[in-house]
Amino acid sequence: MSVLEERLKERFGSRVRANCPLSEFTSFGIGGPADLMVLIETEEELFAALRAAHREAAPAFCLGSGTNLLVSDRGIRGVVICLGDNFKKIEFDGTHVRAGAAAQFGTLVEQAVDRGLEGLEFGEGIPGSVGGALVMNAGAFGGEIARVVTAVHGATIEGQPRTLSDDEVGFAYRRTDLPRGFMIARVNFNLRSGDREVLRTRVADLRSKRAARQPRGVPNAGSIFKNPPGNFAGRLLESAGLKGSRIGGAAFSDQHANFIVNLGGARADEVRALIELARIRVREQSGVALEPEVRMVGEW
Ligand SMILES: Cc1cc2nc3c(=O)[nH]c(=O)nc-3n(C[C@H](O)[C@H](O)[C@H](O)COP(=O)(O)OP(=O)(O)OC[C@H]3O[C@@H](n4cnc5c(N)ncnc54)[C@H](O)[C@@H]3O)c2cc1C
Repeated sequence: MSVLEERLKERFGSRVRANCPLSEFTSFGIGGPADLMVLIETEEELFAALRAAHREAAPAFCLGSGTNLLVSDRGIRGVVICLGDNFKKIEFDGTHVRAGAAAQFGTLVEQAVDRGLEGLEFGEGIPGSVGGALVMNAGAFGGEIARVVTAVHGATIEGQPRTLSDDEVGFAYRRTDLPRGFMIARVNFNLRSGDREVLRTRVADLRSKRAARQPRGVPNAGSIFKNPPGNFAGRLLESAGLKGSRIGGAAFSDQHANFIVNLGGARADEVRALIELARIRVREQSGVALEPEVRMVGEW
């Protein structure tokens, strides 16, 4: 047992798991083991876990709902931190909202719309947590989370509490420039007062648009590539003939070329090989260098 495992078990007991298979925690259903995984229930515990990892010079990775991740077959070294139920609270105060990082983004969208608060409707159907949505600057249909965030509370890599302003988060297209190793505990939003029925209609409209476009019932991680400026990754992939292309258990969806699906037993190496094949084909055909949106993490 490593010193870190011993230290974490002293403090967190059975909430620490060694050699934990991450395929159970990703929407792709793919991923090797985490050396250690710990379930955290309070901000104090988050600081303590990060301090322990920092002392042992072990990497720490925060897992949200795993809907934007390709975890390597060899898994993740160090400690994977999961935020528990206490990080799922959502509190409203007029147009201001405080949401825990582990709250589901979809739940936040639904509760805001039910209160007639405008600004998050674009998020209808985006799976995953508030923390993951923040890190990825999640967006759809012309909206993105960056526009409604006012503050981000969390912990530095050394395990110190810190609040980041909107500017310090560094929002960009489907990414942020958070300080290295920063872990989000909760996020503050400011929404606008709107008409509840108008918002409900908007959300229902976006729901049916999404249902018509995305593959259903097969494990995936959403869009594989970001849309390049002025173009659509799906269109470029389709014209390069990638729709339906398959390596092992991984294939580009027949329904939407920018989704890779796990047809059963796909390995991370197969998905990655498919990503590389697509980048080469699209570059040859259209001169565009596609950039992955899905995060490839772990030991490759
Ligand atoms: C069917 C489907 C449709 C999708 N549609 C969209 C879409 O329309 N628009 C869109 O933007 N995305 C979309 N996605 C991608 C994904 O849902 C989003 O990126 C989502 O916001 C990721 O949240 P998560 O909790 O799953 O994060 P994860 O996948 O678990 O993690 C993503 C990144 O965030 C980090 N992270 C997560 N939580 C924290 C935290 N508390 N502190 C620090 N770092 C953290 C992780 O370390 C990782 O680097 C889709 C995915 C699927 C499967």
